[in-house]
Amino acid sequence: MNRNLSIEALGKVPVWDIIVIGGGATGLGIAVDAAQRGFRVLLLEKGDFAKGTSSRSTKLVHGGVRYLAQGNIKLVVEALRERGFLLANAPHLTRIQQFVIPVYSFFDKWFYGIGLAIYDLLSGKLSLGRTKVMGRKTVLSEIPFLKKDGLKGGVAYLDGQFDDARLAITLALTAHEQGAVLINYMCVSALVKVNGKVTGVTVQDELRDVHYNLESRVVINATGVFVDSILDMDNQASPAAVMPSQGVHLVVDKAFFPGNQALMIPKTKDGRVLFALPWQESIVIGTTDTPLNEIREEPVALKSEIDFIIAQFNAYSQKPITYADIRSVFAGLRPLVKTSNSGSTAMASRDHTIFVSGSNLITITGGKWTTYRKMAKDAVNNAAFVAKLPVIKCKTRKLKLHGASGSIHYGERFSSYGTDAVHIKQLIQQDPELGMPIAEGHSYCKAEIIWSVREEMAMTVEDILARRSRLLFLDAEKAIAAALPVAQLMAGLLNENEDWITHQVKSFHELAGGYIAGNIFSEN
Ligand SMILES: Cc1cc2nc3c(=O)[nH]c(=O)nc-3n(C[C@H](O)[C@H](O)[C@H](O)COP(=O)(O)OP(=O)(O)OC[C@H]3O[C@@H](n4cnc5c(N)ncnc54)[C@H](O)[C@@H]3O)c2cc1C
Repeated sequence: MNRNLSIEALGKVPVWDIIVIGGGATGLGIAVDAAQRGFRVLLLEKGDFAKGTSSRSTKLVHGGVRYLAQGNIKLVVEALRERGFLLANAPHLTRIQQFVIPVYSFFDKWFYGIGLAIYDLLSGKLSLGRTKVMGRKTVLSEIPFLKKDGLKGGVAYLDGQFDDARLAITLALTAHEQGAVLINYMCVSALVKVNGKVTGVTVQDELRDVHYNLESRVVINATGVFVDSILDMDNQASPAAVMPSQGVHLVVDKAFFPGNQALMIPKTKDGRVLFALPWQESIVIGTTDTPLNEIREEPVALKSEIDFIIAQFNAYSQKPITYADIRSVFAGLRPLVKTSNSGSTAMASRDHTIFVSGSNLITITGGKWTTYRKMAKDAVNNAAFVAKLPVIKCKTRKLKLHGASGSIHYGERFSSYGTDAVHIKQLIQQDPELGMPIAEGHSYCKAEIIWSVREEMAMTVEDILARRSRLLFLDAEKAIAAALPVAQLMAGLLNENEDWITHQVKSFHELAGGYIAGNIFSEN
């Protein structure tokens, strides 16, 4: 995937079948699906792939235990099916994780035991394994730092886990493999209309001062929390489709939660669930559900959200965390579908919605990472109907994602690149220095940077440190320290000069400051 070649392709296709706006889980899934059906697809992303919500999730491939408690059986069943498909189609990016719910009354033990047995039953043939009711001793041996007072036992169940940004890049590579053209840093600034119908888009290249007018038989707005800005381009009187809700996660050292188990706290003060789960040799703890009026491209955690997560985690752990222990704090915005009666965002539906405007603009929003494939299928079916494209069935259910192979095992070094890992290893064989980690205690190395710049359209220091590697999300201070050497290496590969290096390092430092918990003093 090369950005210059993708831009050249713009001049070669006079009319696209489908233009997709937005390169998050939803847009990338649509690009894969539509390209696999044989349509000419162009995806335009204003920042980097997964720059939005899709790199800021809890990293669960799940049916959603909480949605079961809310009685949304349809969503849970659909998500459990999709969980099964994703685990099968991307074995190099997903794994099965055991979650333990500690219980402090015998009622809760059976309540959660039965509830989670139903959760497992709903997954049918795609079950990951049985739910287990555990005694107090077993729970304490699995989670040694759990507070013992009043503990009666626990319930263990299985769900999936993944690296969201890496899956997004893999979807981009899969779509590219299937013939789609994808371009990051390409912002849709206007819709082109003829006789009231959308016939294309105007785009601005954010890295060069160039704009393009592009024609398409149908345009899909898959911009997550930003869908309303595209709907406004279509019709300034259109009502808001999305209510944003912020979710925050803290990342701490594995020493605060050793072992392989994930903790699930089933009921926080605001009626949510809270997870503490192992991810990339660290522990991710979250999340919150804070309604916001403002949609920021780089959302920042509120102090009250950090305090809330710390208090909830510490209520269960013998090894409490403080601000000084937080290596990174990241915030993401849920694109919740606006309904007239949604009071609390915690209770708002996580279902997706698709609507076709009078101009034929198709908008899809809501949903979950886990259900991206089903969302894409529904969106492409609608787009094909609106644009009178040939009727071709969706074939993504069994489509192995880029790099998937039976011989790659999750967790091995470079395994998330799947079959591409061999190329990274070759670079290191040619020059062992390229295998050296860029930050102490993390395995990410220079060879991966070279690979991501050459093959994964990494254009900025942030692309490398936030999404091709996850260093910014794992340890913000170390990411800040790595910015200069990363910029220097990238400048050589991208033919950029000293000014570019200075600008990249400065803007990365500014951005990364928002991931350091200690910098967040008040309600920003
Ligand atoms: C805190 C939190 C935790 C979550 N945890 C989970 C989880 O564990 N499991 C799960 O399944 N789901 C989870 N989700 C839900 C999931 O992350 C989202 O549903 C999903 O990532 C949304 O993807 P999207 O593509 O719709 O939006 P985004 O990822 O936001 O993508 C939209 C893209 O559109 C681009 N864009 C906007 N305007 C333009 C324009 N004018 N031109 C071009 N591009 C544009 C943006 O830059 C952005 O990259 C979580 C969500 C949050 C907030």
